Amino acid sequence: MSKNKTDRYCSFCMRPSSEAGQMFEGYSSCICADCAGQINKLFAQQAAEMAQHDLDRLLADVPSPSAIKTFLDQYVIGQDNAKRVLSVAVYNHYKRLRYNSQQHENDDVEIEKSNIIMVGETGTGKTLLARTIARMLNVPFCIADATTLTEAGYVGDDVENVLVRLLQAADYNVEAAERGIVFIDEIDKIARKSENTSITRDVSGEGVQQALLKLLEGAEVGVPPQGGRKHPEQKLININTRNILFICGGAFDGIERHIAARLKSNVIGFKGDQDRRELDRDNMLQYVQQMDLKKFGLIPELVGRFPVLTNLEALDRPALRRILTEPRNALTKQYAELFRMDGVELRFDPEALDLVVDRAVQFHLGARGLRSIMEGIMTDIMFDLPAMQKGSVFTITRQLAEQNIKL
Ligand code: ADP
Repeated sequence: MSKNKTDRYCSFCMRPSSEAGQMFEGYSSCICADCAGQINKLFAQQAAEMAQHDLDRLLADVPSPSAIKTFLDQYVIGQDNAKRVLSVAVYNHYKRLRYNSQQHENDDVEIEKSNIIMVGETGTGKTLLARTIARMLNVPFCIADATTLTEAGYVGDDVENVLVRLLQAADYNVEAAERGIVFIDEIDKIARKSENTSITRDVSGEGVQQALLKLLEGAEVGVPPQGGRKHPEQKLININTRNILFICGGAFDGIERHIAARLKSNVIGFKGDQDRRELDRDNMLQYVQQMDLKKFGLIPELVGRFPVLTNLEALDRPALRRILTEPRNALTKQYAELFRMDGVELRFDPEALDLVVDRAVQFHLGARGLRSIMEGIMTDIMFDLPAMQKGSVFTITRQLAEQNIKL
């Protein structure tokens, strides 16, 4: 091929544009399409190797269930049963990841995913548990609210947007997102209203459940990188959900009715009255089973995708009291840290904390209310904090707390 003056040369393969075709010009060099493609492949290969390396590292030291529980104990008060169930489910999830990333003699065995549903009143620690597990494993984590989701074509978020959030949490690293944890809150709010399939379409409930199935099935899902509605000209990022762990939470108000009905018919049907077990009527949620979720209005296909089911207990007075002081980031510790930054030591009289708990119970606010009650007590004091004498001690007494609570 003859060289001519107007030819530019690829700085990598040194071929002229007359031979190599289109050139991309940089500040002081050029690159041909072939070399650009080659480099692109190398980058992709490197990214895949790094992702594999990350995965190997993650899988090499997946903590045991008891280590997971011990970690959870530092942040979440009580809920022992839920912690044990979650610890095992998460441990198995990561063992499954390892299993799938290796060759096996017996390829007939496929370990299935252990997606989890947590049933429990609002403010009992469902989100906190999921968040704490993600923190421990150092994997991308996002929270989605089932009530904002709609099936495609209706006002609201497409279910794919759940994955957009996960992708964002993973800094757009697709491989990392693909082994992250998604927490879907208020799953009970997309229950269909009756167990019988209705001929009219149930926009808010069943359609969303059907749409969610797609995510849970382990499919390649195209997500719009910036979120929002998919539109034809937008480039989608493919995320494979096979290894994403889904944890759902919901209060399932009124599910006790279904549990009680089932237990009653079981007893009558199979055992006879003299065998009737002593039921703990104040805590019926502990007997929850998958079939109760179906009665409540989750479609069987969806329930089937959540093999692990656990319940959270309502938080009683002693638990609320412990939540104020014991967790690693307990509220009292957080305020003490804020005061310490201004050179003041903050102390709480036990009676002041008892008052906070009383109010939370009185107003049925659960643990969620502790924060707002404390904030009510502390705001005025923190307003004056910068003017306090450095090195001094400030004590929140019951009297001071009483004065400041404006509920
Ligand atoms: P849920 O998801 O069950 O509605 P959250 O996990 O969001 O409740 O809890 C709300 C807040 O209450 C949390 O941020 C946490 O500070 C506190 N909290 C709730 N339950 C517990 C618990 N068992 N131990 C410690 N803190 C808790």
